[in-house]
Amino acid sequence: MTNPSYDYDLVVIGAGSGGVRAARMAATKGARVAIIESRYLGGTCVNVGCVPKKLFVYASEFSQAFKDSAGFGYTVDKKPDFEWARLRDNKTNEIKRLNGVYDGLLSRAGVDIIHGHGRFIDDHRVAVDNREISAAHVLIATGSWPVMPDVEGAEHIISSNEVFYLETFPKDVIVIGGGYIAVEFAGIFNGLGAKTHLLYRGEPVLRGFDDDIREFVSSELEQAGIQLLYNRDIAKVEALESGRFRVTMSDGSARETDLVVSAIGRRPLLDGLDIDKAGVEAAPKGHLEVNDHYQTNVPHIFALGDVIGRVQLTPVALAEGMYVADYLFGESTPRPVDYDLIPTAVFCQPPIGTVGMTEAQAAKRYERVEVYQANFKAMKNTLSGNPERTLMKLLVDCDSRKVIGAHMVGESAGEIIQGLAVAMTAGATKDDFDHTIGIHPTAAEEFVTMRSPARIIGKDREDD
Ligand code: FAD
Ligand code: NDP
Repeated sequence: MTNPSYDYDLVVIGAGSGGVRAARMAATKGARVAIIESRYLGGTCVNVGCVPKKLFVYASEFSQAFKDSAGFGYTVDKKPDFEWARLRDNKTNEIKRLNGVYDGLLSRAGVDIIHGHGRFIDDHRVAVDNREISAAHVLIATGSWPVMPDVEGAEHIISSNEVFYLETFPKDVIVIGGGYIAVEFAGIFNGLGAKTHLLYRGEPVLRGFDDDIREFVSSELEQAGIQLLYNRDIAKVEALESGRFRVTMSDGSARETDLVVSAIGRRPLLDGLDIDKAGVEAAPKGHLEVNDHYQTNVPHIFALGDVIGRVQLTPVALAEGMYVADYLFGESTPRPVDYDLIPTAVFCQPPIGTVGMTEAQAAKRYERVEVYQANFKAMKNTLSGNPERTLMKLLVDCDSRKVIGAHMVGESAGEIIQGLAVAMTAGATKDDFDHTIGIHPTAAEEFVTMRSPARIIGKDREDD
């Protein structure tokens, strides 16, 4: 297992979600491990992703909570003031604390942390500045980076990275894209008081999610005050003397705004890594192709997380990191990562939680599928007067009775769907759901009380 001809048994390039997990787990199994990080310990998720984003989401939800409180007897005497700098700096201090936590976790596990940009010298040697280290195995866990629009004036457009450090909070903003980041950041800006436009080339948002969820979320976003500019793209951005920007869209229309934020996807980050010197080849789309054990075309060089272009989610990178550490230094072959049942949430208002197949996917795959659906006003919104509604969907394969998809838009959707994902991973059937006692009064109990399918759909058939 350990190979004295090299400085380390494993060198990990990139201390993000996947890299840190693999490095720590490998070290706790007795391997000699170093991790190289050029920017920030914890990677995207901790520094400019999941964590600061979720803190901003919490902040953005207070504006509605202040409004909701009136129906419950509270009087908020004046419009609450919001101070962007306080939120931003409190967030930054929390991230600094987490950077320290990551440093401690790695050091205590015995991982050597090397700060700097890593690049290959050959397939067993990596350079960090003037230092050279050799390794029996190398893991590329370098993550991804925002793709920016290729339009005139693109230099005036920022990505999610910069939103976390904005000097001033905008009065109005245009967010470009219709995926996770665009939808979440539109909710953040809107909740924190900016007049928010979401500019998406298609309609409705969140392609790849269940169609009912997409339609429902689209109308909830609009209802929450976000202006949806569908079926058009950005064409040009001009800086005005006022400090604002004039944005021209592909349909010829134009509007002025304080800020333009792009969220049109993220590309694998291999900049300056010199993978060719190690003989590692990237796929034509730019990501690293790996086999079931996360080996690249060079078998002792592994890759995982966003850079392999599969699923760009932290828990997936963590699971892949665990697999690689187990595969290389564990006692038995690890269980493969299950890519079919990945639960995920979009933290918009109301949030989305989803696991398993969409209705369209299920219709293609199974002979007959029962679709259970509930659309209701959550109890809290009776007194609050908030028109926000909740949508829940369960998809059941008629043959096996297994629940093959669960989708929700509503308060705490991510928290609720996490539990259902466990049940579905264990192979729960609709009858198991029906036999489960509900928790009353909750929204989640609806998932165990839906008894009559809204419709039954089938392979290559329209609804019957
Ligand atoms: P990363 O976490 O990106 O880590 C890669 C690390 O490698 C970085 O620290 C980088 O600096 C370093 N690096 C790169 N090149 C080199 C080099 N040559 N030398 C040294 N170091 C290098 N996922 C969720 O599951 N839930 C969420 O709520 C969520 N929210 C998100 C919000 C935003 C705004 C963004 C951008 C992403 C979000 N994600 C979320 C996705 C999640 O952050 C990523 O899927 C995850 O961080 C990927 O982990 P990784 O280990 O592959 O890469
Ligand atoms: P996504 O892939 O989710 O969405 C990209 C969006 O940009 C899509 O709406 C896409 O449209 C649009 N788009 C792509 N190319 C262009 C273009 N050239 N011009 C105009 N629009 C374009 O990427 P994000 O950047 O939102 O997020 C990256 C990833 O990070 C996510 O996929 C997700 O895995 C992860 N993430 C997870 C979060 C979570 O778990 N809550 C939160 C944030 C990010 P179309 O669909 O029409 O192609």
